[in-house]
Amino acid sequence: MKITFLGATGTVTGSKYLVTSNNSRILVDCGLFQGLKQLRLKNWGKFPVDPATIDAVVLTHAHIDHTGYLPLLVRNGFSGKVFCSNATRDLCEILLPDSAHLQEEEARYANMRGFSKHHPALPLYTMEDAERALELLTPVDFEQETQIAEGVSIRLSLSGHILGASLVLLKDADTSILFSGDLGRPNDPLMLPPAIVRQADYLVLESTYGDRLHDPEDPEIKLADIINRTYQRGGLLVVPVFAVGRAQELLYFIQQLKAKRMIPDLPVYLNSPMAVDATEIFMRHADKHKLSGEQCRALANSARMVNSVEESRSLNEIRHPVIILSASGMASGGRVVHHIKAFGPDPRNTILFAGYQAAGTRGAAMLNGADSVKIHGEYVPINAEVDFISNLSAHADYSEIMDWLSHFTLPPRQTFLTHGEPVAADALRHRIEERMGWNVKVPEYLETVDLQDQ
Ligand SMILES: [Zn+2]
Repeated sequence: MKITFLGATGTVTGSKYLVTSNNSRILVDCGLFQGLKQLRLKNWGKFPVDPATIDAVVLTHAHIDHTGYLPLLVRNGFSGKVFCSNATRDLCEILLPDSAHLQEEEARYANMRGFSKHHPALPLYTMEDAERALELLTPVDFEQETQIAEGVSIRLSLSGHILGASLVLLKDADTSILFSGDLGRPNDPLMLPPAIVRQADYLVLESTYGDRLHDPEDPEIKLADIINRTYQRGGLLVVPVFAVGRAQELLYFIQQLKAKRMIPDLPVYLNSPMAVDATEIFMRHADKHKLSGEQCRALANSARMVNSVEESRSLNEIRHPVIILSASGMASGGRVVHHIKAFGPDPRNTILFAGYQAAGTRGAAMLNGADSVKIHGEYVPINAEVDFISNLSAHADYSEIMDWLSHFTLPPRQTFLTHGEPVAADALRHRIEERMGWNVKVPEYLETVDLQDQ
């Protein structure tokens, strides 16, 4: 067996690993590079392997940095099956068309402004490409061995990161390799903990928080403080959210705080059609998270779901305390941008960020104290309180990763650390080598390792 690292090396995006076993070629994850321009340009380059020669794809979970390249792979000749969990399939059905829509918008914008070197600028992929990719999705059950190509099988176990997220154990006749995908946390309020793993010949492990611990402060208490403070000023709360995962978690916390009478019974609006759909998918997969049917219904009823653009616009007229959750999570686009334009100038209001803010986004600028941000070509003053809750992460921190590794009864022959900035990956390498005496490597982009030679 051989593995080639086609992404998520030195970065947290673009996850793609090619596994070769005899005559079979499997791609594990098919993510888009995001963030810095030199990374995004990799999406446009020639794929290092002819997609037509890949037999099957396996997805660990639905996030775009693990699935968003799939439509392009399909357009360039891949026609095999794409294996994933049922919930991942359902979430891909909303996330991949949305990604295609964003690509088409970007090309349209480039043509309008004339800043592309290509005339006309073309999207990375289209809605049609995304629809073709969705047709190849082949759901498999958790904890069941499934043959996916000649001599190769997989087994999915819960990773606890988002709904449907999986650890993938891939095996041929001689060797097994476990992919952590994104590893969740042991005590998430909504997600079940990651499955305990005792053995694998090789391990590919994420390292997003390889050098950090999450803030120990209880996010529920911090959220209550922020909501109450804003309410007392007569202001309203705008929360930019990621549609899948974070939106449901925030709704859950708000509903809990209301039930405990720790905050007033304010109206809550969930203004993102994608987040509304994701909440429904969450209810459909009741055995893959901690909430009961009743709690799920309470979650869905805890907010007014906003679908239409007219309704979304009318929210901007509100002048009394409410809570508005709206995408995108970094305020880089989507409906929340209109809310920031409407509510950012009033010092009574609060804009609350609940997830990682990448460099260059409006979210990062506001958290750094920018007194204005550019929206639709004009500078909007930000006089509202700007706040951040860090302990809502869906990724294990280094201590949680080390705890998860401690269940292995035998060290893997080699552990590969990916999906982390260079400093985070190297800090985790050092920690695992020192504490556990394991053989750990941080692979390079396009590096191939022969797993028999180890
Ligand atoms: Zn993820």
